[in-house]
Amino acid sequence: MQPPKADMSSPSPRYVGRFAPSPTGPLHLGSLFTAIASWLHARQQQGHWLVRMEDLDPPREQTGAAEAIITTLTNWGLHSDAPVLFQSERLHAYQKTSDQLLETGKAYRCDCSRKQVATEGLASPEGWRYSGRCRERQVASNKQHCIRLDSRSVQIQFTDELQGPQQETPEQLYGDFPIRRADEYFAYQLAVVVDDAYQGVTHVVRGIDLLSSTSRQICLQQKLGLTTPNYCHLPVLIGEDGQKLSKQNLAKPVPVDYDLETMRWLLDALALDSDQAPLASGPKAALEWAAQHWQPQRLAQLKQLAAAPSSPC
Ligand SMILES: [Zn+2]
Repeated sequence: MQPPKADMSSPSPRYVGRFAPSPTGPLHLGSLFTAIASWLHARQQQGHWLVRMEDLDPPREQTGAAEAIITTLTNWGLHSDAPVLFQSERLHAYQKTSDQLLETGKAYRCDCSRKQVATEGLASPEGWRYSGRCRERQVASNKQHCIRLDSRSVQIQFTDELQGPQQETPEQLYGDFPIRRADEYFAYQLAVVVDDAYQGVTHVVRGIDLLSSTSRQICLQQKLGLTTPNYCHLPVLIGEDGQKLSKQNLAKPVPVDYDLETMRWLLDALALDSDQAPLASGPKAALEWAAQHWQPQRLAQLKQLAAAPSSPC
């Protein structure tokens, strides 16, 4: 099956970006900040911008959140250039990739209990890593198991557009990581890699809280022979408690409809001079102006931005 194309008459774009929210609640200021930054980055390079709904974990999801997120994005002038891709409709692709990794010996079944994993874990800069106990054990498929990627002998090097050169040795850092969980849900890392390739994503612009996932994703790309996109990890917005704004710490939702003061605050946070922006002309005009003036390097090396106390949401 071919990925959905935004415009069949145009050649494959050299830039395809994406925004990939999880429908665990409505959009908050931090997620709208990332959505706008990824849109500006794509638009400035005449690229395509896609929305992908990461609805792979039903117990964590909120009924109606996916629709609410898409409505809010649309009202803020952020339109996906192809139909929104729902990961819940992509399970066959994740299954196929997981099978392929198992069959080629790049992944294996692991039936270790949580306790075993914890007690036998090896020390690592991230705290501990899986010992690799099941690599050679040939765990039967009818036993409850997770599937782990064999991360031995992989070296990761990439240059993040804002955070600079990154270098990691997965085996020493986090070891063999799950691509399918013991509860049979596919892991976020596998789904993202499969879908970034399926959608032809060339540029990933997202929050720095996901920087630690990037080497796992590149590790998977290497095992699957896939091209690694460019990465740009933005600072995250933090609230008054010093924590990243997130649905988990009940960050307030942004207005469903375009709100001038919120857009002003967001453009300032993105190091743009909102006084110059045609904010009163609506979201489309404000965003087009912002794309012309967007200079992501102004956010280079920044890890976080305070969203309090002056933030509108
Ligand atoms: Zn194991």
